[in-house]
Amino acid sequence: MNKFEQLGLNESLLLAIKDLGFENPSEVQEKAIPLLLEKDTDIVALAQTGTGKTAAFGFPLIQKIDAENRDTQALILSPTRELCLQITNEIKLYSKYIKGLNTVAIYGGASITEQANQIRRGAQIIVATPGRMQDMINRNMVNIKNINYCVLDEADEMLNMGFYEDITAILSDTPKEKSTWLFSATMPQEVARIAKEFMRKPLEITVGHKNSGNENVSHEFYLVSARDRYAALKRLADANPDIFSVVFCRTKRDTQAVAEKLIEDGYSAAALHGDLSQAQRDGVMKSFRGRQIQMLVATDVAARGIDVDDVTHVINYQLPDEVETYTHRSGRTGRAGKSGTSLVIITKSELRKITQIERIIKMKFEEKPIPSGIEICQ
Ligand code: ADP
Ligand code: MG
Repeated sequence: MNKFEQLGLNESLLLAIKDLGFENPSEVQEKAIPLLLEKDTDIVALAQTGTGKTAAFGFPLIQKIDAENRDTQALILSPTRELCLQITNEIKLYSKYIKGLNTVAIYGGASITEQANQIRRGAQIIVATPGRMQDMINRNMVNIKNINYCVLDEADEMLNMGFYEDITAILSDTPKEKSTWLFSATMPQEVARIAKEFMRKPLEITVGHKNSGNENVSHEFYLVSARDRYAALKRLADANPDIFSVVFCRTKRDTQAVAEKLIEDGYSAAALHGDLSQAQRDGVMKSFRGRQIQMLVATDVAARGIDVDDVTHVINYQLPDEVETYTHRSGRTGRAGKSGTSLVIITKSELRKITQIERIIKMKFEEKPIPSGIEICQ
């Protein structure tokens, strides 16, 4: 009996898990799955990014859904369109041996009528971004009055992005007698507030330290003068020819400019930000996942929560305004037990931010010199 069987998962899920190649449950899965299967309870689960939270709620949720009943039984809220699609794909993989179970993704930037049609055809599980969900509720395109389960995934991200009003409005539209499962990497005050207002005596699961960083990620910074920022980025790319990286910039404009410069200089790069059309964003993500692009230059909003295997480096071309955002950026690497590096290109005047971040992630940065031309040639 493998460990997944011991958690109480049924045959169809175990078969799917075998296909996925998951050998053992991660810690958050080991803690959450039996609890959620056993009884209908509210739960707050805190675990670092990359620890397998999707399956921690996805497996028990699928097992609890009645696939023969076509009513919507579960709603999963997630912060961005990309994440919404990612979760939907995962849930579809997990439930591939369950006949009649339909999962539908609801997100902005795509046809609302098409999404409404998909729901009408029967969707036991809806995965939605808060904005589009609220929109569809207002237009009576969806009925969540009888759901049994509501999952708030990446709750800290959703609240960071200003979805508090949407989330509370959506939750008010769901029945009182349901289970709410909140998953988050960190527990800022707003998350605690949602838990307090909308959950009934939630059980709490914590994996690792609250709000701490991922031990698989090492953190380094490179001190440069402001005008050398771009040259430093190129040097770092040259020194790591096999780099597979997400490069974060502060604004859409900088994101576009840095990506364009990299392409001009012969690097394999593309930009991902909110001024692109949904089709363009999907195209960029597809090329990045397929390794046709080595450096994805992105804004925080566009790259939030993205799960791409084997990202070797996160590069903070500029530090985020909010130091908390750093945790989410660095969480794009070091996933599923692999190691990764989070690099910060920084000027002297920003140095104190490093200390602030160290306090949040409870880890130390190593200061490194920009690799010289000689080192790169070797
Ligand atoms: P989180 O939501 O905590 O950031 P994800 O659910 O996105 O993490 O999972 C991160 C990665 O780990 C995914 O690529 C997922 O397929 C993989 N993964 C999840 N659970 C397991 C497991 N038990 N064994 C191996 N890989 C896993
Ligand atoms: Mg997640």
